[in-house]
Amino acid sequence: METIISVKDLKKNYGKFEAVKGISFDVYAGEIFGLLGPNGAGKSTTLEIIETLRDKTSGKIIVDGLDLDKSPEKIKKIIGVQLQTSGFYPGLNLLELIDLFCGLYNTKTDSMQLLEMVNLKDKAKNKYKEMSGGQKQRFSIATTLINHPRIIFLDEPTTGLDPQARRNLWELIKTIRDKGTTVIITTHYMDEAEQLCDRVAIMDEGKIIALQSPDKLIDDLVASGFERPKVTKSANLEDVFINLTGKDFRED
Ligand code: ADP
Ligand code: MG
Repeated sequence: METIISVKDLKKNYGKFEAVKGISFDVYAGEIFGLLGPNGAGKSTTLEIIETLRDKTSGKIIVDGLDLDKSPEKIKKIIGVQLQTSGFYPGLNLLELIDLFCGLYNTKTDSMQLLEMVNLKDKAKNKYKEMSGGQKQRFSIATTLINHPRIIFLDEPTTGLDPQARRNLWELIKTIRDKGTTVIITTHYMDEAEQLCDRVAIMDEGKIIALQSPDKLIDDLVASGFERPKVTKSANLEDVFINLTGKDFRED
């Protein structure tokens, strides 16, 4: 397994507050790696340091063989970072926004092919502000791919979306992984992590407290004697909802 990101003893202090307390982990090329944890655990801080957007206090980070301390500019060229959706000019249409990004990255891309991949081809001439929440998220994921990155970073990409839009985004993220791009994602939806992530690191109060595949973590818990307090049903309310309303999009 090729290690594409290596983080060793990463620490981040904000003043006297220790937000990240010496974490170490590797991300393998071609996997979907999840950073899970409650609000304030240090997930975004960790991502933004690897993305070269935030300074670390100490520790060593290697991204695709490049030392973050020595080659941040080279790292920027091989990663795709999802902007907060508020970062887009609302009055530009999708093609114009892609052109703008191409200019920023000094690269070219097949805009229609990119929009087709995220199922927004028929919205190409629509303004950004005219799109639904799910469409905006799909578009922002598309923009992470403009510079043909080896790794993309998604910070809570499905927060606030309805169940159909979330499922659609999972499929999109898996497609991106299957085409060979490594994905690092944060979420606090555990069903999402279980469906989507090849491995997860669970963070709490600035530390990694578990790192495994979701399957292995669940098996280990069961092996330790854990049982759910009440008999579980073979479906949940979300299954009921999807069964009643279908998997099709409602936003288009
Ligand atoms: P998460 O993404 O897991 O919710 P963050 O990385 O955003 O967590 O934040 C981790 C901790 O660091 C939180 O307690 C947060 O309040 C604090 N923090 C984040 N950014 C700053 C900052 N710029 N200045 C001071 N404290 C910060
Ligand atoms: Mg965060």
